[in-house]
Amino acid sequence: MPLSPQTEPLRRYNPLGDHLRKVFGGPVRKLPFSAGLTCPNRDGTRGTGGCFYCSGKDLVPSWFVPGEDVPTQLRRGMEALGRGGARMFIAYLQDHTGTHCAPERLEQVLAEALSAPGVVGLSVGTRPDCLGSPVLDVLESFARRTRLWLEIGLQSSSDSTLLSVGRNHTAAEFADAVRAARARGIETVAHVILGLPGEGRAETDATAGFLATLGVPGVKIHNIMVLRGTRLHEMSERGEFVPPTAEEYRDMAVRFLERLPPGVVIHRLAAEAPTDLLAAPAWARDKSAVIRAVERELERRDTRQSVRWLGSRSIPPGGTTDRETSPSWRKRGQGELPDLAKGPSA
Ligand code: SF4
Repeated sequence: MPLSPQTEPLRRYNPLGDHLRKVFGGPVRKLPFSAGLTCPNRDGTRGTGGCFYCSGKDLVPSWFVPGEDVPTQLRRGMEALGRGGARMFIAYLQDHTGTHCAPERLEQVLAEALSAPGVVGLSVGTRPDCLGSPVLDVLESFARRTRLWLEIGLQSSSDSTLLSVGRNHTAAEFADAVRAARARGIETVAHVILGLPGEGRAETDATAGFLATLGVPGVKIHNIMVLRGTRLHEMSERGEFVPPTAEEYRDMAVRFLERLPPGVVIHRLAAEAPTDLLAAPAWARDKSAVIRAVERELERRDTRQSVRWLGSRSIPPGGTTDRETSPSWRKRGQGELPDLAKGPSA
């Protein structure tokens, strides 16, 4: 099959790192932080047990100390990540559901994060059912001032899968949330998990097609992991769930990439979890090895992102938007950098 034209001739997919370097002119790291929030799928708003695969604990960064304020968390996170040379950071409101709070609280934590030296953009992780108008008002106001990504959990486009893993939302709710965010100029990133119970090639292909048709500009792809203390772990112990092999995951990830439009930015190609939480599969312990294996499989098959894309909706190359040329956030992205060699500012 002939290959589609790509904007990155040396790459077989569009990784986030390349995209961020293009946008900000240098390496940028994601810096997770916590606002002490919970999740509507745990506190009874939508459900109480949480998603079958979620432990909750894996969402908290290693440097997090309960009760610490946002600026302190970010400063300590920059110390940890900055040792690798990073000086620009996307502050990522990651733990549980980032918009499951009063809009005023969301506004406060995002303002605190954005004012931290070295923070050049924001990312907010959430569920599709936690994006009412007041919350979108807040996100829109930040999206006008800085680069902001809204990361929304879909996991699968199959409602029966979503029901069976206790997500307590539908694919239609996800689509509505993406459209509502897009209407306000907010850039979305879909979270998907490959290898959920009952899912294989057909469901993987269908989820990729769903996102392609919807025109989501960014995707985070995760391999399913069985974490201790989850309902999936109980299923696994009873022999009711067996995670995909490394080969099966490679196959699903390649097929998924092949079905996405060329401009979609791949924010993640493999999941990671603390070693003490990961019960299975053993091959998931080394995230870098999983990514390299998917990349080698793309090479081996001589294939790439978008070759089986059937949709008609086009994403600009690199997932770019008009805002990329906006001087207001670019200026911020290139200035106010902390000198980590001298230690964090107070
Ligand atoms: S995966 Fe997200 S939505 Fe599901 S229980 Fe965990 S925090 Fe809540």
